[in-house]
Amino acid sequence: MRAVEIQEGFVGAEAFDAAVSKVLRSGITGTRSCAVAMLTLHPWWIADDWLSSRSIARYRSAISRRVSSLLLEEDAVAITDAGEWAILLTNIGDHTEATAVAEKITAIVAEPVDVGGEPGYPLISTGVAVATGVHRVAGDLIADARAAMSQAVENGAGQIAVFDEGLRLDFLHRCRMVTTIGPGSSLASLDLHFQPIVDLSSGKVTAVEALLRWPGQRAFGSAAQIISLAEQTNLIGRLGSWVLRTACDYARRWAGSGVRTHINVSPLQLMRGDLVSIVLASIEDAGLQPDDIVIEITESTAMEPLAIANIAELKEAGVQIALDDFGTGYANLASLRALPIDIVKLDRSIVTDISANSPSRAMLEGIIAMAHALDLQVVAEGIETADELAVVKDTGCDLGQGFLIERPSSQAAIRRLLDLDIEDAIA
Ligand code: C2E
Ligand code: MG
Ligand code: MG
Repeated sequence: MRAVEIQEGFVGAEAFDAAVSKVLRSGITGTRSCAVAMLTLHPWWIADDWLSSRSIARYRSAISRRVSSLLLEEDAVAITDAGEWAILLTNIGDHTEATAVAEKITAIVAEPVDVGGEPGYPLISTGVAVATGVHRVAGDLIADARAAMSQAVENGAGQIAVFDEGLRLDFLHRCRMVTTIGPGSSLASLDLHFQPIVDLSSGKVTAVEALLRWPGQRAFGSAAQIISLAEQTNLIGRLGSWVLRTACDYARRWAGSGVRTHINVSPLQLMRGDLVSIVLASIEDAGLQPDDIVIEITESTAMEPLAIANIAELKEAGVQIALDDFGTGYANLASLRALPIDIVKLDRSIVTDISANSPSRAMLEGIIAMAHALDLQVVAEGIETADELAVVKDTGCDLGQGFLIERPSSQAAIRRLLDLDIEDAIA
C-alpha cells in the first residue's frame, strides 16, 4: 500500500504498515487484539459523471474528518493509492467488537455532507479483519480487510463485511476456479455432460443439452457459479468458446441420428462481437449443419441491441434459438414475440409441484397456447415427479427434460442411451 495523500492526523502507508506490525509483534495479549478496517466510497459515487470532482473531494474530506474523530490515540489511519481508508483499530476483543466499531464508523460517515448547498449522502462499504495467530505481518491483515471490503462492496452500499474463515475459503476457492479457466490453463480438467430432451408424445430423444462439469471434483462448484465468475473476470469469452467447440465436437457423434445439441450462452457472451463467428466456425469445423445446434439464451436484463443482432444473425444462418428459464427473472411475455426464437424452455419453478388443479396449471396452459400461437416449441424443464410429467404432457407441452426422464451424463453414457428407446421412462 502506498499513500498518495497524507492528511492531517493521517499517516503514510509505510508508517501505517509499521503501526500494524508493531501491534501484531507486541503480541495479541490475553483477550485483546487489533483489527484493520478498510473503507471505500461506493463505486457509484466515484463513477458517476454528474458528481463533480469538487463534490467528491468534499465527500472525501468529510469522511476523513469523521473517521479521525472516532479513533483512539493508538489507532492509525491512511489513505491508499486507490483512495480507500485503511484504519488500524487497536484494543479490539473480537469480531463483535470490531463490527460494533465498524457500524459506528459507517453511521457517522453516512451523515449528509453539504454539496454546494444541497445535502449529499456518502455511501461507503466497509471490510474488517480482526488479527489472529495467522496474521504474521501487516500485509496479511490488510489483505484480509481488503477481501472483506470487496465482499462488502458486492453486498451493496452501506454494508459491513467481517473477514472470517468462510470468506477466506470462498476466496481461495474462487482463485482456484479462476486458475482452472484462466489464460494459463488448457481447460483440460473441464468436461461437458449432456441431458436428454424428449418428445413427450413419442418418448424419443430429440435433443441433448450440454452442461459444464468438472469430472472428479464434485466440491468444485456449480456450473452457474463458474459461469458467473467467468463473467466477472472477463474469462467468459475463453470459456464460452471452449464450450461451443467441445459441444459441437461431441454433437457430431449423434447429429446423424437427428438429435440436436443445445448449448448455453451466457448474457455477457451474447453481447460479444465475435460470438456469431465463433458459433458458426465451431459448427463448420465439426462438420455439422447450423440447424443441428440450438443456442440457449437467457434474458438477464433488457436485451442490448448487440445481443439481439447476434441472435438474429445466428437464426438467419440457420441455428435454432431457445429462450431458457422462461418464467423467471426478466424473461417476459413480450420477449416471446420480440425475439427471433424457435423454442421456449419453461423454468423448473413453473413445473415444480404442479398438479392437475393448481393455478400453476392454468398459467402453464396459457403460456403453451401463446407459444404455439407464435409457432414456438415448448420444453418443460426440471421434471422430477410422475405427477409433474403427467400434467406437463396433458397441457400439450411438446418436449420435456428433467431428472425423472434422465439426469445429465457423460457423452459416452449419452451415446449408449441414444441407442436405447427411453419411451418407457415417460409412458
Ligand atoms: P440451465 O441451462 O437452465 O440448465 C438446466 C439446469 O437444471 C442444469 O443445472 C441441470 O442439471 C438442472 N436440471 C435438469 N433437470 C433437473 C431436475 O429435474 N431437477 C433439478 N433440480 N435440476 C435439474 P446445471 O448443470 O447445474 O446448470 C445450471 C445453469 O448453469 C444452467 O441452467 C445454465 O444457465 C448454466 N450453465 C451450465 N452449463 C453452461 C455452459 O456450458 N455455458 C453457459 N453459458 N451456461 C451454462
Ligand atoms: Mg439451458
Ligand atoms: Mg433453464
